[in-house]
Amino acid sequence: MSSPSITDAPRRLFLALWPEEAERRRLADLAASVAGRRRVRDDHLHLTLVFLGATAAARLAGYEAALADLPTLELELVLDHYGYWPQPRILWLGSSRTPPELYERVADLHRRLRGCGFIPERRAFQAHITLARKFPGPAPAQPPTAPVRWPVNEVALVESLREEGGVRYQVLRRWPGLG
Ligand code: ATP
Ligand code: MG
Repeated sequence: MSSPSITDAPRRLFLALWPEEAERRRLADLAASVAGRRRVRDDHLHLTLVFLGATAAARLAGYEAALADLPTLELELVLDHYGYWPQPRILWLGSSRTPPELYERVADLHRRLRGCGFIPERRAFQAHITLARKFPGPAPAQPPTAPVRWPVNEVALVESLREEGGVRYQVLRRWPGLG
């Protein structure tokens, strides 16, 4: 029996909405204004749709096949609302009117992934962008003065890489689109 090579090691993956430069800048400005030095790094800002966790290569191939024909997603997120979860001490940005299409997309992702053996979280999906961790709370009393409008049309497959000093995210591919 051959021993698995290092490239066969499971990878820590998730599906997310990944902001383009313009939206990332606006999100980063908000994070800086409300969370100061506790804010999430600018290049880490994202919205997780499905956390896939440690994923072996064969499993990943199945997921990619199951997601290959994802229909186009076109919606606009209006991020106008701060929230705070005291237990993980997370300050987040969300929408007071998350489009139903986003929930439908997450449900569709779950359906497709389930067919490949993925077990979705029991917790209901809550669309949020983590702005700060280890945040003392509470959330700012006032909502953002100008909501961030984020036109969304792709789902990104992202790898979370453990590195010295923390984590790094790498977008592996996007759907629909050219991959
Ligand atoms: P760190 O764990 O080092 O604080 P992180 O949480 O940003 O960094 P990951 O743990 O790799 O990095 O998580 C990647 C994304 O998946 C993040 O958006 C995180 O909130 C989300 N995530 C992580 N674990 C889970 C989980 N068990 N259920 C749902 N979402 C998760
Ligand atoms: Mg984590």
